[in-house]
Amino acid sequence: VKESGRNGFRFFKGEMNAEALRWLALETRLRRAIERDELSLHYQPQVSRLDGQVVGMEALLRWRSDEIGSVSPADFIPLAEDTGLIHPIGEWVIRQACFQNKAWQNAGLGPVRVAVNVSASQFKAGSVAQVVRTALQDSGLEARWLEVELTESVMLGDSAAAEAQMAELRAMGVSLSLDDFGTGYSSLGYLSRFPLDKLKIDQTFVRNIATEQRSAAIAQATIALAQGLSLAVVAEGVETVGQRDFLGSLGCDVLQGYLYGRPVPAFEMAQLLAKGRVI
Ligand code: C2E
Ligand code: CA
Ligand code: CA
Ligand code: CA
Repeated sequence: VKESGRNGFRFFKGEMNAEALRWLALETRLRRAIERDELSLHYQPQVSRLDGQVVGMEALLRWRSDEIGSVSPADFIPLAEDTGLIHPIGEWVIRQACFQNKAWQNAGLGPVRVAVNVSASQFKAGSVAQVVRTALQDSGLEARWLEVELTESVMLGDSAAAEAQMAELRAMGVSLSLDDFGTGYSSLGYLSRFPLDKLKIDQTFVRNIATEQRSAAIAQATIALAQGLSLAVVAEGVETVGQRDFLGSLGCDVLQGYLYGRPVPAFEMAQLLAKGRVI
């Protein structure tokens, strides 16, 4: 099966094989996932290195199908993007994160900013700012408690529409974070053109930071770049004390990763918020 962008999948003669059938079956099930209440968000803390305080969190989508069990977002997000299902699913994610964060605030927890992942295809469709605006209104959450994570691919190609939506989100008071920094294909020029608040150092660089000179150099350069541009910087995928200390020595003070906590369901995150800190 061959991916063919927004037109879904194209099948070549004789290629209607097991893999293609598996994807079709997955699509049918994903189509019903929202109405069947099979989607949920898990939340992973972003932590201040210095005092262990929870300063934010990332919402990560989970799908538990009654028929086929748990499916990783790495598997179903690309399918959702290719079939257009990312639009209803992405809207659900944004609304769910806003309502959950407001519910925590109403319960006296936090306040913290929650980051949601938004795909390039959602930006291309042009509806992100409107979906966010409505979700904020309906939930009553203030815009400053919401962050949108986007990837470099949003800013590729004919990006005027994406730029306009980013500006609109910024004007509302939503912050914008550039995910997986350094793994995409864009040039650095977009850092001055697009309104960003934060860079996230990708976990591929963090993984080898203490053992591999190249990863350390990229992390160091990213942190310097962020500081020079007055952007915040977060490192993701922090698993070890060695990585934490190395990032600290480079001046990166907000960290996210298994060292501090895995993504957990909302009720577990509430317990963490009640404590206020992870260490
Ligand atoms: P991402 O946005 O880069 O999210 C970080 C991924 O790294 C998450 O995987 C998270 O669980 C995992 N992670 C966090 N800390 C650690 C660590 O210390 N070590 C390691 N090895 N991994 C860590 P997850 O939850 O499986 O999500 C995978 C990807 O799926 C995300 O990558 C994101 O691109 C996408 N995704 C997840 N939720 C959504 C969503 O609501 N909308 C969209 N469009 N994409 C989503
Ligand atoms: Ca992310
Ligand atoms: Ca990431
Ligand atoms: Ca990633």
